[in-house]
Amino acid sequence: MGSIENFMELSISELKEHDQRLQEKYNGYKSQNLNLDMSRGKPCQEQLDLSNGLLDSLKSNEDYRGMDGTDYRNYGGLDGIPEAKELFSQVLEVSTKEIIIGGNSSLNMMYDTIARAMLHGVYRSESPWGKLPVVKFLCPSPGYDRHFAICELFNIEMITIDMLSSGPDMDMIEKLVSEDDSIKGIWCVPKYSNPDGITYSDQTVERLAQMKTKATDFRIFWDNAYTVHHLTEHEDQLKDIFTACKSAGNPHRVFMFSSTSKITFPGSGVAMMAASEENLDFIRRQLSIQTIGPDKINQLRHVRFLKDMNHLKKHMEKHAEIIKPKFEIVLNKLESELGSKNIASWNKPNGGYFISLNTLNGCARDIVNMAAEVGVKLTQAGATYPYGKDPRDRNIRIAPTFPSMAELEKAIEVLCLCVQLVSIKKILAEKE
Ligand code: PMP
Repeated sequence: MGSIENFMELSISELKEHDQRLQEKYNGYKSQNLNLDMSRGKPCQEQLDLSNGLLDSLKSNEDYRGMDGTDYRNYGGLDGIPEAKELFSQVLEVSTKEIIIGGNSSLNMMYDTIARAMLHGVYRSESPWGKLPVVKFLCPSPGYDRHFAICELFNIEMITIDMLSSGPDMDMIEKLVSEDDSIKGIWCVPKYSNPDGITYSDQTVERLAQMKTKATDFRIFWDNAYTVHHLTEHEDQLKDIFTACKSAGNPHRVFMFSSTSKITFPGSGVAMMAASEENLDFIRRQLSIQTIGPDKINQLRHVRFLKDMNHLKKHMEKHAEIIKPKFEIVLNKLESELGSKNIASWNKPNGGYFISLNTLNGCARDIVNMAAEVGVKLTQAGATYPYGKDPRDRNIRIAPTFPSMAELEKAIEVLCLCVQLVSIKKILAEKE
């Protein structure tokens, strides 16, 4: 048999013949004792090396003072140092009064924000969310599993919203939030979304800012984790939701988050949150009980190292140089192995950390398990949906940044093999 085209048009005997050849290949991988991990979006070592300058960015014994002479070695500075506010307010496109610089993790800030809302409500809440009989969140999916895990931990009911090429399904969102005041929030990864790599359209941003919500204390959790993480010269532009919310008369609607996790060192970076001054005042009152202040020395280290927006952009170009070829390996392999077969589809992101693969319905879990059996670890199937349940069992998140090029090539080969084997099984079951 020559190269295989559309699987849907093959006869039963052709499918079986192809299946046998693929199965032999798969068995061959079993003996190779592979140990490849494409499960989490971690930078690779070369990327980490780009930020080694951080380790000695505070060189002289005197470089621990702020621009006003404050000694950053000591306690104080509840919501971040002014130098970091100056730099990172430009990343999130807000004023320095509308940002808090936190610790090492934006996920931690999001978790705390939900925890505070459950215990005390948000600015102008009538009641703590946790006192209500039910609290619901909208979850555009596929989405970031750790957002969903926070909701699950706090017993916040999750409503799955489909992702379209323009962002989450706004018709559905507008209808739901206008009717149900127990819907208190929505998770959004608006730029180079995790995992689809989609950037919300201007219209989606406007509609989120303008929509009528029955809950008066509704909040958009705008996790802009990949705002400067372009992969190509074609940079997606995301409309500024904060300004859109202000213009729409909803200035307190949005909580924005980001971090340097995938700019410098994940786990040892700097996280930030932006919101209206009233929102931040409300938060600071509780923050002042929770902590005396964040790690100011690490914030200063980051400002010294990243310098300004221009420098930060150049730094991100170096990241792109390293990871773009990895994305290309994945995309080329998907195209050559699955391109014409009509059994899978995927996005070609302009930035971010992931490629999202959609298989035939009912296949993702079996594919991920099959790949694991020969030592290729992928993100658990279903993880990109609330409660770990993909209703169509079709989404697989590919994280290409961490493995080496050679490992990646092999891992995707195995993945494509498993996609074909499981698809054939499904097609045969339907035909027979
Ligand atoms: N948000 C998104 C969308 C992510 O993909 C990740 C993982 N890198 C995070 C947040 C976690 O960020 P942090 O390290 O700042 O907690």
